[in-house]
Amino acid sequence: MPFNNRSRLDPSQVDDRRGRGVGTRAAVGGGLGLVILVVAMLLGVNPADLTNVIEPAPAASTGSAGQTDNLAVVCQTGADANTREDCRIVGFVNSIQVFWTDEFARQGEQYLPARTVLFTGATQAACGYATAAVGPFYCPADQQVYLDLDFFVELHTRFGAQGGAFAEAYVLAHEYGHHVQNLAGALDQSSGSSATGPQSASVQTELQADCLAGVWANHATDTGYLTQVTDAEIAQSLDAAAAVGDDRIQRQTQGYVSPESWTHGSSEQRQQALKDGLQTGDPASCETP
Ligand SMILES: [Zn+2]
Repeated sequence: MPFNNRSRLDPSQVDDRRGRGVGTRAAVGGGLGLVILVVAMLLGVNPADLTNVIEPAPAASTGSAGQTDNLAVVCQTGADANTREDCRIVGFVNSIQVFWTDEFARQGEQYLPARTVLFTGATQAACGYATAAVGPFYCPADQQVYLDLDFFVELHTRFGAQGGAFAEAYVLAHEYGHHVQNLAGALDQSSGSSATGPQSASVQTELQADCLAGVWANHATDTGYLTQVTDAEIAQSLDAAAAVGDDRIQRQTQGYVSPESWTHGSSEQRQQALKDGLQTGDPASCETP
């Protein structure tokens, strides 16, 4: 999956807040809490993690301990993406967004780039104060993707995924799938529904984002950033999609599966949606019924 060593990265698409405190942590009022709840439902956040969003959490560490390098300085080329995880994230974000820029243009539409915010522990989003416990998410209100890199460790240790760089690419491409949905007005349609279950609007939204991730993966080498994607790497992404299936997570966290509360879809549904996008490479194949 190496990046083309000479490709130019655009680190301005990633906002690095790692090791930075979140400043004042405004109390989340009832109304805003509800918005967060709706957003969380929409994004399919595990309800057990919700309290972490709504309730105060310990302030993120500040000071020099978590000081990181300036991405604008260290992430210049594909060669940097091949050697550093944070630059690899920049490379994936760039590749995903170049693809969607071109794809929107083909449809006569304009794609508006969205930044990815890297944080550690907790951060402030327009959707509310978020801790790493909610996992990576897309906030429609500020049109940004939020990611604590520790999630990828958790994906492996807690969710049992084999991991790997292309599993990371899938997670990012899924979140950008939500941004594409937002630009297309598809997030508005389902935001009024809080229903859960295998056929719910929430699950359909998530499966569509998986499919859109597959569409990018199909074209991953077209954008000039990645030189090749092997079958083993495709397998990493399918494995990650299965690992974050609602049934798998429920079996792990509550010991039983309750499909009526699904928000993201089962492992099988998610894998299939990703496969659909991977095989067709066509966003039209991701239309929800
Ligand atoms: Zn999602």
